[in-house]
Amino acid sequence: LQKRFQVHQSFGNWFGKKSYLSAVKDVSFRLYEGETYGLVGESGSGKSTTGRTILGLTPASSGQVIYQNKDLVKLPKKELRRFRKDIQLVFQDPFSSLNPRKRIGRILEEPLIIHKMGNQTQRQEQVFNILKKVGLLPEHYFRYPHEFSGGQRQRIGLARALIMNPKIMICDEPVSALDVSIQSQILNMLKELQKEFKLTLLFITHDISVVRYISDRIGIMYLGTIVEEGPTDDLFNEPLHPYTKALFSAVPDFTRNRLKERIILKGEMPSPLSPPAGCVFHTRCPLATDKCKTEVPIFKEMQANHKVACHLF
Ligand code: SF4
Ligand code: MG
Repeated sequence: LQKRFQVHQSFGNWFGKKSYLSAVKDVSFRLYEGETYGLVGESGSGKSTTGRTILGLTPASSGQVIYQNKDLVKLPKKELRRFRKDIQLVFQDPFSSLNPRKRIGRILEEPLIIHKMGNQTQRQEQVFNILKKVGLLPEHYFRYPHEFSGGQRQRIGLARALIMNPKIMICDEPVSALDVSIQSQILNMLKELQKEFKLTLLFITHDISVVRYISDRIGIMYLGTIVEEGPTDDLFNEPLHPYTKALFSAVPDFTRNRLKERIILKGEMPSPLSPPAGCVFHTRCPLATDKCKTEVPIFKEMQANHKVACHLF
């Protein structure tokens, strides 16, 4: 992803009409085959928008999404459909996207029908197979969405994504709505499925512990930009950006056997409608100087693969 995305969002009655805002800009990152890239940030940081833009669900006004040497942003609809099969989205709340009047078997079979994959017997076989992979039972084929618990629904959400045999899965807060005990079950299952299906994951979350557990690399988002990126261990051992430090300080670190000092940020995250000039973080940064108010810091590589956008570096 590069350059600037003009994001179309509806604020309902709040603005009286649809408004346009630039929620994500100058976001650029690579997703390597087989890895899990964690995109972390508070709500409103633009992480979901980034995921949706990759899929073309949120239109990009400019920039590129390069996949297999093709720019998905510029691809005609017809050709895009072929690639869309490879990239699947898993939502936070699969229930809202599961048709309540359809049985699970039918819901899972639907994408196969749309993409004209196999005959009915083959498709059914595939559905039963995928139910097993996500830890559900053959009899679940005949049940309706409301008959399932939150954890089971997320298994259905994963099954629906996996049945297309995707190469990339974009998981947007897939466990945030679940109890902690269920969260770890789903995360462990996701790790196993990743190995088995050779999946590349873009994992979007606001939860630091979850992202640390699941990710190989992490990008920290603040107000529509990535302010720091690096391998998970490097980032946690030596966070560089003042925002990353504050974010991580809120999570107890039991591995280091000492209590970190909690860094409390002043103020609220500004509206993405009017992001501050200079460094996007300057209105809340404890270390901000005058330069930070006017000059946008460039994204610099400090150590191997560890990048930060801050004038202190
Ligand atoms: Fe803080 Fe300035 Fe660094 Fe931004 S560039 S994070 S305001 S020190
Ligand atoms: Mg979101």
